[in-house]
Amino acid sequence: MTQAVGTIDTGVASSRALLPSPPNYWSYSSLKEVETCPRRYALVRATYPDLWDSHGYPSLPSTPALFGDVVHGALEVVVKALAEAGVESAHSIEATRVLRELGGLTSVVEEMVTRQLAPLESNPRVGLDRRRRIARELRAQTPDARVQVQTYLSRTVFVPRSSASSSMRDGSGVARRGQPTRRALGKGSHPEVVLVADELRLLGRVDLLTIAGASVDIVDYKTGVEAPGHHEQLRLYALLWDADDQSNPARLATASLTAAYRDRDVDIPVPSSEDLDALRVSLTAQIEHADVELKSGAPTPLPSPANCERCTVRQLCGAYWDEVTRELTTIGEREWFDYEGKIGKQNGQRSWWVVDPETGIQRLLLRTTSPTPPFSPGDHVRLLGLRHELDPEANTPVALLTAASEVFQVVSS
Ligand code: SF4
Repeated sequence: MTQAVGTIDTGVASSRALLPSPPNYWSYSSLKEVETCPRRYALVRATYPDLWDSHGYPSLPSTPALFGDVVHGALEVVVKALAEAGVESAHSIEATRVLRELGGLTSVVEEMVTRQLAPLESNPRVGLDRRRRIARELRAQTPDARVQVQTYLSRTVFVPRSSASSSMRDGSGVARRGQPTRRALGKGSHPEVVLVADELRLLGRVDLLTIAGASVDIVDYKTGVEAPGHHEQLRLYALLWDADDQSNPARLATASLTAAYRDRDVDIPVPSSEDLDALRVSLTAQIEHADVELKSGAPTPLPSPANCERCTVRQLCGAYWDEVTRELTTIGEREWFDYEGKIGKQNGQRSWWVVDPETGIQRLLLRTTSPTPPFSPGDHVRLLGLRHELDPEANTPVALLTAASEVFQVVSS
């Protein structure tokens, strides 16, 4: 756990953010997040003592993201068990025995669904209705998740470990006083390997690293769509393998890098030693920049429609409300948008006026699906995920507060 280096009063109720200091080790994804928006990185990882006891801002789970986590998690469990059993293929009799011992693939997937749903119980951002809907959707997708795991497994090549290697468990990644511990990896398939470049303060967790003679193959399972960032990430894994003198004391070179998607494997060119040197230089600069941002106590916001549209902490970010939210007149029919204003008079059983907080002028007619919405007249609110409704009889824009919308109380600006 890192110490807070500063506080941001976000202006939203119960959302005073104690900012995190730089981590002991950076990962590819965390560096990317800082590069995209340092403020978002910090707000997502800050602690909110007035909101809840857990670390970070409560996430806003989506079924597709949880589905990806279910597939990845189940794959992790099965690949680990198969690699430890020394199978050569997921189609072998031995592999069938291992799967049976795990209770069968469906049971592994169901267990993963349960694990993904459990944190939603204590998430203050996820109400009962949303929780039930996500649980229903995710459980309904169990057969598809099972098929996906099988698809990845069918293309996975396993190499049994040498006896010296198999006598050591894959315990890499166990943190001891902040230092990830590793061991020299020998012949065979090694799942979930943590690789570290100590001199860079950089680490990565490789899904499957296989050593056969002098050949080293690195595979990363990707449950989402193909993206250029996946290439970057795998090149970074090649750098970590090259630099990790505990896991790779013989400095074996990477022979192949594979991004394994649901439908196909993509081979990524292995960086040359010159490429690795250049990567080291750029990562050193990135890490210096990320450290400076986090130590500043006020990480820079980088507002833009592309950055902010899906930002899960935009309700806490003044730059977003000042610079990115759109004028009501520019929003098309049934488009989704966010809006800040003050709740005015009730207009009907399920509709309220939203007024300009400064002038009191009526700006928006807000319809709700419930007669008891989570606000009262006079509340200054940030409304996330409203749907623009067309009403030819209304003189002002009309929006619907749906079950997926969120309401945040502004207590200072
Ligand atoms: S809303 Fe935009 S600027 Fe603000 S933290 Fe999120 S991504 Fe960064």
